[in-house]
Amino acid sequence: MKVFVALVLLQIYLYESTDGFEFKHHDNQELFHVLRDVNTKCRNITRVYALNEPSVLGIPLYVIEFSTRPGRHETLKPEFKYIANMHGNEVLGRELLLKLADYLCESYLNGNPEIKALIKSTRIHLMPSMNPDGWQLATDTGGQDYLIGRTNNNSIDLNRNFPDLDRIVFENEEENAVKNNHLLEQVTRINDPLQPETRSVIRLIMQIPFVLSANMHGGDLVANYPYDESRTGSQKDEYTATPDDETFRYLALAYSSNHADMANPKRGGCGDVDSSKFAKQGGITNGAKWYSLQGGMQDFNYLSSNDFEITLELGCNKYPPASVLEKEWERNRKAIIAYMWQVHIGIKGIIYDSETKQPISGATIHVKNITSGLSNDIHHDVTSVYGGDYYRLLTPGTYKVTAFKEGYLPHSKLVTVTNPSYTEAQQVDFALKPLPISPFIQSDNYIESKIDDRYGSRNQDWAAWAEEREPILEPIAIA
Ligand SMILES: [Zn+2]
Repeated sequence: MKVFVALVLLQIYLYESTDGFEFKHHDNQELFHVLRDVNTKCRNITRVYALNEPSVLGIPLYVIEFSTRPGRHETLKPEFKYIANMHGNEVLGRELLLKLADYLCESYLNGNPEIKALIKSTRIHLMPSMNPDGWQLATDTGGQDYLIGRTNNNSIDLNRNFPDLDRIVFENEEENAVKNNHLLEQVTRINDPLQPETRSVIRLIMQIPFVLSANMHGGDLVANYPYDESRTGSQKDEYTATPDDETFRYLALAYSSNHADMANPKRGGCGDVDSSKFAKQGGITNGAKWYSLQGGMQDFNYLSSNDFEITLELGCNKYPPASVLEKEWERNRKAIIAYMWQVHIGIKGIIYDSETKQPISGATIHVKNITSGLSNDIHHDVTSVYGGDYYRLLTPGTYKVTAFKEGYLPHSKLVTVTNPSYTEAQQVDFALKPLPISPFIQSDNYIESKIDDRYGSRNQDWAAWAEEREPILEPIAIA
């Protein structure tokens, strides 16, 4: 009898721990319950937190984090994020991320070697819904309208609400200004008031040193990569490459080629002419080549931080019925995991002072592609973070990598990148030798004066904007 009871209890336990996840459209409360249940099952490797500000209607914006040391950045461990349901009526990504949270936890507990290796080497953040208010409206009205529920509760499209850094980088390019990254400080005005959902995500991007991310949408089936905004302002058909075009294409293909049929050239499109072309070009597209948009989250990540982001359009139907969610998970699962592994391509390392051995944060890492006799500077630098650690996503090839920081002698190394699968990035450290007098001081002052010239009354405008920006720098409230 005792054995029988034990077996029944074991069965109940197994049932709860393996089949606890239900494929359905989880409402805003159930969304939190799924994350909380995953956190309960996998307490050692997860943390649930809410962003500092909730949605307009007061729904918290929840994130679940996976890491072997939840709650902190670890030196040399790259950070990854998925954000879904930014357009409230595009709901597949929301359910995929809830299932992903459950899947990562279960796979870790079951000893799946690939998932264990991923979680041990990566800090992963999953945000199933950036627009819970829009989701509610779309759901309450039947979910089948192309637009109802797309915006937040103030009728603002969140994917047009980020500061337009593309315009700044395009101007910098024209004027041969050296500044090509971390451009938020150059913002002098914003078009629409920042929405609470946008402010919260900007703060997240500024606080956590993300290396790679994707933003999940619906309405087409394609992996879209930067830039989303065209250089000339043209609405369509203007391929607008970033300095990292090769890397972005590689990243987008990592998703599309691992999806059940995003890259299948025989599949049909979602109705319009552009859509039918996507499958024939590997299931990927440059954003501005498709259509140009200002104030998108994807380009903002790339131009305000060290993060590389692409936008995933997960299917023609924005609000697919619950009956197909499990099939959609199976169609996307390999791609979702493969894309997370891309956070480990290229190189990473630590920049430190050659004399004191102390790590140097805020150092700049510049890369020149010298593969097969090329000599192409990649005009998008990344910077080292808290522990002096840096991450530079790169495609296979040979590169000259230079680390520099004011007050130190620049240091270059030749590196060959091969990107073997399921492996952490090759580690390339730099010991910088301090200089008694920095040759950079003069040039930095020169750059500063150029920037001031260009913006004229910049300091005054900036003060007003900074006032609004200040609250977003407060720490994240932990749920
Ligand atoms: Zn969308």
